[in-house]
Amino acid sequence: MIYCCEEHVDLALDIVVDECEIAPTLEKIKKEENLSTPCEYCQNRSIYLVGN
Ligand SMILES: [Zn+2]
Repeated sequence: MIYCCEEHVDLALDIVVDECEIAPTLEKIKKEENLSTPCEYCQNRSIYLVGN
């Protein structure tokens, strides 16, 4: 699973599709549930959780 910010959500989706060859799931993280997990690709706070 990949944590990512708004800016990198497309990138994360592409990577999951490439690696898993199935449609990924996209879950929006509630602000209060995400205190410190940064985006996988930058230092912004993550907003989405991409999984499969
Ligand atoms: Zn990012």
